[in-house]
Amino acid sequence: MKEGFTQVVKEYDVIVIGAGPGGMTAALYASRANLSVLMLDRGIYGGQMNNTAEVENYPGFKSILGPDLAKEMYESSTQFDAEYAYGNVEKITVNDNNMKTIKTDSDEYAAKALIIATGSQYKKLGVPGEDEYGGRGVSYCAVCDGAFFRDREVIVVGGGDSAIEEGSYLTQLVKKVDVIHRRNELRAQKILQDRAFANPKIDFVWDTIVTEIEGDGQKVTGVKTHNKKTGQDEKLPINGVFIYVGVEPMSEPFNGLGITDEDGWIRTNEKMETAVPGVFAIGDVRKKELRQITTAVGDGSIAGQGVFSYIESLK
Ligand code: FAD
Repeated sequence: MKEGFTQVVKEYDVIVIGAGPGGMTAALYASRANLSVLMLDRGIYGGQMNNTAEVENYPGFKSILGPDLAKEMYESSTQFDAEYAYGNVEKITVNDNNMKTIKTDSDEYAAKALIIATGSQYKKLGVPGEDEYGGRGVSYCAVCDGAFFRDREVIVVGGGDSAIEEGSYLTQLVKKVDVIHRRNELRAQKILQDRAFANPKIDFVWDTIVTEIEGDGQKVTGVKTHNKKTGQDEKLPINGVFIYVGVEPMSEPFNGLGITDEDGWIRTNEKMETAVPGVFAIGDVRKKELRQITTAVGDGSIAGQGVFSYIESLK
């Protein structure tokens, strides 16, 4: 055993991997059903809510800061003795007796059932200013942040389905959308392209990449662009930059279970069950249409209830 590595095997009825809104809801339901529950997360509880300045579309709160909502959810999710521990989950093994072994970077746990709630991450552009102004003008979620740019001009970076769909959605809120795309044609479905080309609020900037996001220390003030065909560099004064250059599931530790599709999204049925008995998946890591706090919470309640039935069925 390498130095500093403690191998602690502790057993639970349910282990929830990821303490975002999905995982915390699942933990609430499962612990309220009297199951022993451990939530493991490699970061602070709350998941992507911690990257959200203001949430205006979670019922019950007209407006709440993402980290505050995370704290409220954490207090609910642990009120029936669900435990929370640090752990970067690296590997899952399903034993012959259907017990699951969960290996983190430092410990090992066992559970009768597993709920995967590890979420997804937006691919980044990787340009200067992107991280610095995340949540302060740089966004990866039009549904979440579009309303903050009401009647202003914004840019959308990308040319796939998400970029065009979200760009079209934004036109309901903002004054104008410039879609900046590195190619001279879109990858999005034809029907989405037709709608976008017919939309008077959308303009396209072709063959162009964003090279830097600029700000005044508080918020985004503009972007620098480079036209790959003409070689021309420009500065666009803008306050909102929506980036859609792809999104990827955080499902790597589960690749060996045969529950992901070709892009890594975890497939489930309506009960949030995967193809492996006693392994559930919820929230953004799941193959689904809308990735939001409300939908993660909905998935979490279904899995938290379903896991109770699964454990009863083992008796
Ligand atoms: P997440 O919230 O992503 O949580 C996953 C957790 O799993 C994380 O804490 C992560 O650390 C952990 N994890 C991942 N891999 C491992 C591992 N191997 N081991 C241990 N832990 C792991 N939605 C709204 O409804 N309203 C909004 O206003 C809104 N604004 C947003 C703004 C931004 C900038 C972003 C990025 C997203 C926003 N969303 C919003 C989307 C919303 O945050 C997500 O849909 C939601 O958080 C998904 O919940 P989840 O529980 O599935 O996953």
